[in-house]
Amino acid sequence: MRRPVKLTHLVLVAVSLVCLHVICLLVFRAQATVVTYPFLVLAPLLACASCCWQAATEEPASRSPWVLLSAGTFLWTFGISLSAWEDIFRHSPQSAAWFSDFSFFLYGVPVLLAISSASAKQRIPFFIWMDAAQALLTGFLAYVSIFSVVPFSDTPLAPVSASTLVLTYNTENFILAVAATLRLFAQPRGQERRFYVVLFWFLWFYAVIAYVYNSWAAVMDLHSVMDVLVDLPFLFLAVATMAPRTLRVEAEPAPQKQTLAIFVENVCPIFYTVALLALSISLMRQHFYAGTAGTFTAIVVYATRSTLLQGRYIRIQRELHEARDRLEQMALTDALTDTANRRRFDEALVLEWSRATRNRHPLALLLVDIDYFKMLNDRYGHPGGDRCLVSVARALQSALPHSGDLLARYGGEEFAEILPSTDEAGARLVALTMQEAVRMLNIRNETSTGPFMTVSVGIAVFEPPQGAPSDIIEAADRALYRAKQRGRNRIEATGQLDFLRNNTQ
Ligand code: GH3
Ligand code: MG
Ligand code: MG
Repeated sequence: MRRPVKLTHLVLVAVSLVCLHVICLLVFRAQATVVTYPFLVLAPLLACASCCWQAATEEPASRSPWVLLSAGTFLWTFGISLSAWEDIFRHSPQSAAWFSDFSFFLYGVPVLLAISSASAKQRIPFFIWMDAAQALLTGFLAYVSIFSVVPFSDTPLAPVSASTLVLTYNTENFILAVAATLRLFAQPRGQERRFYVVLFWFLWFYAVIAYVYNSWAAVMDLHSVMDVLVDLPFLFLAVATMAPRTLRVEAEPAPQKQTLAIFVENVCPIFYTVALLALSISLMRQHFYAGTAGTFTAIVVYATRSTLLQGRYIRIQRELHEARDRLEQMALTDALTDTANRRRFDEALVLEWSRATRNRHPLALLLVDIDYFKMLNDRYGHPGGDRCLVSVARALQSALPHSGDLLARYGGEEFAEILPSTDEAGARLVALTMQEAVRMLNIRNETSTGPFMTVSVGIAVFEPPQGAPSDIIEAADRALYRAKQRGRNRIEATGQLDFLRNNTQ
């Protein structure tokens, strides 16, 4: 097992590096340019390495933002290395932008992509390709805006002034910090939240430090102790990334906060497209074709994203409805016999009861119980008994005269039928048909009722219904009990008047 790195050790290393940088700059003041760069390269390099390490140890689903942040810090490290080369070997003028600046500018591309990427559970693979296309185009447009020429053209470079560049950097840094703040409002959870919290603090720290440093560097052209400032946000990022993870139980956000979170989560993926659009429009006046290409791409990406998401939304909606219908069907169906279950029976009885009361129509209820089923189970075994139940259910179903009649498994080897608008004569006829249908199955069960399986039926007819729906069940149950007592394989009925009279006595 990997031993977690202690936070105090990490902080100690970071503080030591900063102190060493300060001491070197104070001691070798004359060679400040040469002395400062190793530290300026080391700090973002450590940040980049820690992000790579984090990406490697992270679960695949939450890996991509760390990969993007590694790419961002790598571009920054590359930029500062180029800057060292330009400064020490080429003595490039500080008053205009150079290739290192291009790299510094591009650092924001993967970082903004990380901020605007949808949460792991919502990611669509095709969007990653669209983001990659946007990132490439941003690189191209950034080159055009910094050097005022198209890459690989013969036209000499015309870099923008350092002051314009500083303004661009500051704008970029604060936009990134604000975007990361908004991303936190989307309430990312678990490991994803950890990433956005670290990124939030890093980007704000970096934006403020870069603002202070760039304002100072604009007036002082020399390297000094102020360079140490540049190390700080990157060392912070390295420490925060490597710090041991604390497991925190996250409470569910309040409903109104959830609404805001969902809104922000949906807005975040278009941050990048908006940034690309802004960059393209700013370029349009001087570089019409490049600006138009950028604007066109941003619009196409936005339209494609919306169309795909709309399609996905409609598909998910349909799947949800189908799943709900399936679940509803399952919740109301008996798994063995595929007839209505007790829950559906109870609902249907209340409905038919009130309909019959309203229309003053008769309502018949039949309780059908298989005779000596225990013996049948003993004879064929429990699975054999189950098969008999399925056959009986089919036979009973086939005997129902109207589509509005309902057959339900009432429990065990007992079935119930609700027959709306049916009087006692009609109910007796249905009961007889049922007995005959079951007899026709020819399932052997030698008992006092004969060589084949039989059923007893209890009938209750309420005309029009009075009292409560449970009364008609009780009445049918009494009739069934009588049928059993009088020898089984019989049909007995309890009239409403008898039932009410008995109940009031
Ligand atoms: P009676 O004529 O008085 O109704 O006698 P009976 O044996 O049919 O009734 P009893 O209530 O004594 O036994 C019912 C049996 O039905 C007992 C139980 O094991 C069986 N049973 C209940 N549910 C199921 C089921 O889902 N599958 C099977 N195979 N048997 C069941
Ligand atoms: Mg029985
Ligand atoms: Mg029974």
